[in-house]
Amino acid sequence: MTDNHIYDYDFFVIGAGSGGVRAARIAAGHGAKVGIAEGRFLGGTCVNVGCVPKKLMAYAADYAAHFADAKGFGWSLPGAAANATPSFSWEIFRRAKDSEIARLNGIYRKLIENAGVTLHEGYARFVDPHKIRIADKTVTAAKILIATGGRPRPLNIPGGEHARTSDDMFYLDTLPKRAVILGGGYIAVEFAHILHGLGVEIDLLYRGSLFLRHFDDDIRLFLAEEMKKQGINVYFHENPAKIEKDTQGYTVHTDAEHTYACDFILSAIGRDPATEGLGLQDAGCLTAGSGRIERDPQTYQTNIPHIYAIGDVTNADNLTPVAIAEGHALADHLFGGQDMRSVDTSIIPTAVFSDPAIGTCGLTEEQARANGYGIEIYRSTFRPMVHTLSGRDEKTLMKLVVDKKSRKVLGIHMAGRDAPEIMQGFGVALQCGAKKEDFDHTIPIHPTSAEEFVTMRTPCET
Ligand code: FAD
Ligand code: NDP
Repeated sequence: MTDNHIYDYDFFVIGAGSGGVRAARIAAGHGAKVGIAEGRFLGGTCVNVGCVPKKLMAYAADYAAHFADAKGFGWSLPGAAANATPSFSWEIFRRAKDSEIARLNGIYRKLIENAGVTLHEGYARFVDPHKIRIADKTVTAAKILIATGGRPRPLNIPGGEHARTSDDMFYLDTLPKRAVILGGGYIAVEFAHILHGLGVEIDLLYRGSLFLRHFDDDIRLFLAEEMKKQGINVYFHENPAKIEKDTQGYTVHTDAEHTYACDFILSAIGRDPATEGLGLQDAGCLTAGSGRIERDPQTYQTNIPHIYAIGDVTNADNLTPVAIAEGHALADHLFGGQDMRSVDTSIIPTAVFSDPAIGTCGLTEEQARANGYGIEIYRSTFRPMVHTLSGRDEKTLMKLVVDKKSRKVLGIHMAGRDAPEIMQGFGVALQCGAKKEDFDHTIPIHPTSAEEFVTMRTPCET
């Protein structure tokens, strides 16, 4: 307790997503009396309309290529015609996916209950800095955590209401035939792969010169070429201007005066912090652009010292592991008597579940140069062994960015099969400050693609 008032809770968390649930559970484990409010779904974005169902869809999409590739290894379906193609049932997939997500929702409920945290189902709204209303109940708390995550950004162009968002992608009744995807970030690129794999024709329209703006340029270029090879139409310098609905479906008009006809539009133009309706003005909490909650980056305190914010609502590094790490560190500090642990976000391994997938960690070549490093670049492009027999025309790109002076590996980037899995281990190496020579002295695992990272010896650029 921080003052002489008696509150219903020591700690009240708004939002039972990745960060909120972790903070609530850990705080309760340290003996705090904890409540949590959730307005929509237990487990938040990641479990319900994010990482988990997205990855399940990416797996489903990958099978299209696996079926085709298997032929080169001698596989066939007895009785099927030589040119038979496998078919996909969205209905069966969706039922299986829904049941898995329901299972995870149940696990989250148990995690909350077993930790002794009281769950309030409904949207929470501040009444005053210590008082929160959820449905017809009002609760008070000494400390409050805002962990309300983000929401898809609205598409503010004429006809923008016809576009769907990533939230809708998991609950479609049927798959479209021809989709336009707007945007060039994680979600646009991942859903281009997913929908293409499931048999949907795709036009991806990005307003800039090359998608995935914060990624290494070699990787961005490489992925664009690989996607085009697969038959995904990727168009750059195409900024959506208006959408028209007609009897056939929709037409997307762009600033470049091009038109794209389709029966489905996915708008993936970013996410905004979910602060609308939270009554922040009644709590006295300040927000910045797009509703992002302002906070101290070390203590996670907002301008109201007993109100904290973590995860996507702060619009910093909008990734599940970051929200979880922040929630854990905060609860350990507030109720576990520990010093505030800073979550090191200087090196975040991250992945794009495209095809080929991207795994990346540390500085891009462009960032390293912009930061004044003298660098060596090691780059390798090759056909992965699996495709020598599958016959698929798909390559892998691997790249290291090395600081010439300290010899530290500043960045590691890959586009290729299993890149996300490979990158997790190399993330540890970068976190430990591994030098190029540490990579060189590591015995490779043969035959793998990953061994290329420890066998590249000659810089291609210095
Ligand atoms: P959330 O998980 O969004 O949780 C916030 C919760 O608060 C929600 O359940 C919401 O309903 C609730 N809420 C909001 N307002 C209120 C209120 N007023 N009262 C009560 N409850 C409220 N990240 C990765 O690391 N890897 C991935 O592969 C990945 N894939 C993604 C794919 C998609 C399509 C999307 C959209 C996101 C993806 N992310 C991924 C990002 C990841 O989902 C988020 O970074 C993460 O969920 C953020 O956690 P959080 O706790 O901040 O918020
Ligand atoms: P991103 O911020 O990654 O990308 C948004 C894209 O939309 C950018 O290409 C941006 O272009 C473009 N854009 C923004 N505004 C407009 C506009 N008005 N008109 C046209 N295009 C526009 O957002 P996402 O929605 O893809 O994903 C949200 C976040 O969720 C990600 O940043 C990531 O943190 C997380 N996520 C993580 C995943 C993972 O870890 N695998 C997967 C999915 C999501 P420009 O670059 O020019 O600004």
